[in-house]
Amino acid sequence: MTETSINSLNIPAFQQDLLRWYDENKRDLPWREDQDPYKVWVSEIMLQQTKVDTVIPYFQRFIEKFPTVYELAEADQQEVLKAWEGLGYYSRARNLQNAVREVVSNYGGKVPDDPKELGSLKGVGPYTKGAILSIAYDQPEPAVDGNVMRVFSRVLRIEEDIARQKTKKLFEDHLREIIPHEDPSSFNQAIMDLGASICTPTSPACLFCPVQEHCQAFAAGVEEQLPVKKKAKKQKKIRYVVLLAKNSSGQYAIEKRPEEGLLGNLWQFPMIPIEEVGEDHTGNWFYDEYGIALRISGKKGELNHVFSHLIWDMEIFDAEVLTDDSDNGRLEFTDPDKLQSYPFPVSHQKIRTYITDDPGNNK
Ligand code: SF4
Repeated sequence: MTETSINSLNIPAFQQDLLRWYDENKRDLPWREDQDPYKVWVSEIMLQQTKVDTVIPYFQRFIEKFPTVYELAEADQQEVLKAWEGLGYYSRARNLQNAVREVVSNYGGKVPDDPKELGSLKGVGPYTKGAILSIAYDQPEPAVDGNVMRVFSRVLRIEEDIARQKTKKLFEDHLREIIPHEDPSSFNQAIMDLGASICTPTSPACLFCPVQEHCQAFAAGVEEQLPVKKKAKKQKKIRYVVLLAKNSSGQYAIEKRPEEGLLGNLWQFPMIPIEEVGEDHTGNWFYDEYGIALRISGKKGELNHVFSHLIWDMEIFDAEVLTDDSDNGRLEFTDPDKLQSYPFPVSHQKIRTYITDDPGNNK
């Protein structure tokens, strides 16, 4: 980035070209029906790491179930996780509910429009804060995420590594100069739409771009080389044995994950790191990690699940519960047809189909 890249942008003309395009091309999205800050908040949290098409049905069901902050604040956490099931990154849902509870108890149910108060809520980082303040409250606040950095790294030809916190700050500073004070709501949404439909990560459609004449990367023919993003570290792989452990009443063992950390408070089938079980775990094998005796039998399948920082490499086995001590506090035994009512992460939803799709369990 050069000192002059922002200075050589004709800001009023850029705003005008972008807003005119947005006015004619804006996407029809359910959270755009009104400027309700709660709905903007829910949508922005769901949209983190998740595509718009995936989010739409989740958003609609979520708002139907929890139409205002009050219903969400009062809901049981398991109900909220269930409504989030399949979207991943479940801490988003837990933080959202905790923050909404704070809005109800400390702010009379009104999502704060003060940047400091809003930013102090759990899970509301600079991006979400900027999105709510600009979209719902028409404040000229930047909302900088990967999409916005991609667009502006091209428009301003910024060649810094966007994975660095310092670079994000640089974009925020520039955005503060570029956002209009009149209708910042449309401006930020226009950038989001431009990034989603025209200035895409690969092969940007520059020929159809409403801000092409302002774009310094296009002028230099380097748009495909931007943004610069250094590769993250390779994910760590952990091998697990997952057990479909059935007791003599035909019920399956499931456990709740700890409240803190990855996939907190979601349910899963018992899952044991392979080094604790040993490579040679097929055949008859007893395991009492959970306070019950199990015999691991036939292998059902394999599954890989990739998170941003690690990979679960899972082998799935049938297992027979030999003692029936369901008071061990860690496991719960449930009938096959009740498994659907628990919130499971995506990987264990897939594993659940070994049971729910088995005609032997659906008599
Ligand atoms: Fe993106 Fe191309 Fe438009 Fe520049 S001209 S903003 S690279 S789509």
